[in-house]
Amino acid sequence: MCQLTSIVMQDKNRKNTTNKPQQEVKTNATIDNNDTNATPHIDKDNDGLAEEGNHDDVKELLIIGAGPHALTLLLRLLEPEPDFLTEKERSRRDHHTKNIRSNHDVRCHIKNLIRRGGTNTRRKSNDNNRQRKKKQQQRNENSKSKNVSSTPPPLQLNDVLEGKISIIDMHGDWMSGWKENFDAIKIKQLRSLMNAHADPYDHRSLEYYAEMMGRDNELILLRHLTQRDKNFSELFNDFHELLINAYGIDNIVEKGYVESICPKESSNCNDDEPIFETKINYGIDNGGIKIVKSKRIVCAMGPNFISFTPSWQKDIIVENNIKSLPSNRGVLSPTEIVPWLKKQKQRQHNNGKITSHKHDDENPLRILIVGGGITSAQLTLLVASSSWCESVTLLQRSTCLCRQFDVENEWMGAARGKYLDDFWSLDVNSRAARLKEARRGGSISPEIFIELCSIEKQIYLKEETEIAHVEWTTTTSTCNKEDDNKLNVTFDDGSPSEDYDMIWLSTGATNTIMHYPPLVSLEKILPLQLVNGLPVLSKDLSWLDGQVINTEQEEPAWKRLARTRCWCMGVLAGLELGPDSLNLVGARHGSVRVAQAIRRDMMKDFKT
Ligand SMILES: Cc1cc2nc3c(=O)[nH]c(=O)nc-3n(C[C@H](O)[C@H](O)[C@H](O)COP(=O)(O)OP(=O)(O)OC[C@H]3O[C@@H](n4cnc5c(N)ncnc54)[C@H](O)[C@@H]3O)c2cc1C
Repeated sequence: MCQLTSIVMQDKNRKNTTNKPQQEVKTNATIDNNDTNATPHIDKDNDGLAEEGNHDDVKELLIIGAGPHALTLLLRLLEPEPDFLTEKERSRRDHHTKNIRSNHDVRCHIKNLIRRGGTNTRRKSNDNNRQRKKKQQQRNENSKSKNVSSTPPPLQLNDVLEGKISIIDMHGDWMSGWKENFDAIKIKQLRSLMNAHADPYDHRSLEYYAEMMGRDNELILLRHLTQRDKNFSELFNDFHELLINAYGIDNIVEKGYVESICPKESSNCNDDEPIFETKINYGIDNGGIKIVKSKRIVCAMGPNFISFTPSWQKDIIVENNIKSLPSNRGVLSPTEIVPWLKKQKQRQHNNGKITSHKHDDENPLRILIVGGGITSAQLTLLVASSSWCESVTLLQRSTCLCRQFDVENEWMGAARGKYLDDFWSLDVNSRAARLKEARRGGSISPEIFIELCSIEKQIYLKEETEIAHVEWTTTTSTCNKEDDNKLNVTFDDGSPSEDYDMIWLSTGATNTIMHYPPLVSLEKILPLQLVNGLPVLSKDLSWLDGQVINTEQEEPAWKRLARTRCWCMGVLAGLELGPDSLNLVGARHGSVRVAQAIRRDMMKDFKT
């Protein structure tokens, strides 16, 4: 257990120093106890949008999501000489495994990447597709000449550029959500090893890239874990930009929100082929809602930060006789924190020109952050170093857990293979329990912990404590027409209540397919065993549980085939990949399995 010696414990007698006017607001609105967090939509109101159906062109593959997991997969689909090592093979020390490439090959690969996608040669969005195709052809020829026959052939970049393979994401670009988080929370370094990244050729390529670019000072040696280093965010982002450019997949992500997935039997009834009809909302200005048809589908939709509404939050609604908490209520859910930070940055910028504002440096905020994970600690650091913050309290349900990664160190080291074997030897219920056990509800890395201890502004830490009750009052300030919230918080440790201006719930994600509307619709047609809301997938992460529930009535052939052509990546693949399925290492692990399955399946099509 860690001791936060230099963090000042909560001063129980602290007074409200901001002297904000208090007024209890009562409305006659009806009470609604529904969860206040809604699934994000590009357009909430779709009225008037015509649905388009019956497109003749059927895509070979549709990938939903453009986060690190989808990127890692697409690159492994395109790379003629991919690294398809299993995690067990990889976890053995490099020199014991003959499958590991030579250092020379990896360096040549980096040189090629830089030549194809480096800053000097970076393609513009209107670049000539023919050039890209030619380069891919050259690489395919090279791979043939090296005789890598056991590897199913790569997908063609042409197919991506011509729309036979599509990537759809509500953010509209590669890793937008990732970059937005890192930028808003000012995360300087990753919490994963430098061998976890999207490069499909070799797991050492980020390390070699850093060396070759003279940026090895951006790799951090973990002394007690020798040879397993972390990396800085800027290095990671630059490397991924290089990968995206070098593989020619910049500007290919379409912006749209996937509402549902509906597998159907192909209209050509003789072939038992399935077709996935995916309903995509492109937004009013971009064609509205359309049905996109594809032969195969990958769901790489990331963690879903919908959290359950705590009981004290429901009580606020009841006690104030309101329908739901207004968005400026002072309580931010996990999905609202980054957008608030972005707005605050904008306000700070504007305040250079306009001086009076509620959240300005002269009227700083008292913030209570709830959560035991690294993000809550990073937010605490960010807030504590901001001029608009008067004080910050970090509230944790358990004692502060300090460790390098969000799973036990052993999962990352030479024993990784053994840990995975142990995990796979368990039945699905025990695996679900193991997932929880390995992550232990959140932890903080040592470097963040040290920063928390050394920051000048006082940070209050409350461990093993939860919120018992919150009195919420709001007043509308006449000068800036914004609501001032005051939250009087009572804790369950018996300490005196405290006043805050805001409560931020950095309580992580609850991962169940029920929070993903496209998967809910998919599961209705292709039911699957769920354990704690996670699907029991097959080894290649397809929607094909070994013990399909619907045993009484035999499924038609097209449905059985559909199950093998629909894959699920990331956190939702936890029961198959283990506790780090969410992370970059899970992206590598999952992409090796899914890419091989897709390449094999598409190869069959090619042969017939
Ligand atoms: C702040 C933070 C820091 C992290 N740091 C690390 C780290 O250092 N190392 C590490 O290994 N892991 C880290 N992680 C964990 C993990 O690697 C990230 O969460 C990562 O982004 C997961 O990648 P993903 O592709 O699964 O999901 P995401 O990055 O969330 O991408 C999923 C994409 O799917 C899109 N999407 C979802 N639903 C739909 C829909 N219905 N229609 C259209 N698009 C949709 C989203 O817009 C999103 O862009 C971090 C996580 C967070 C939150």
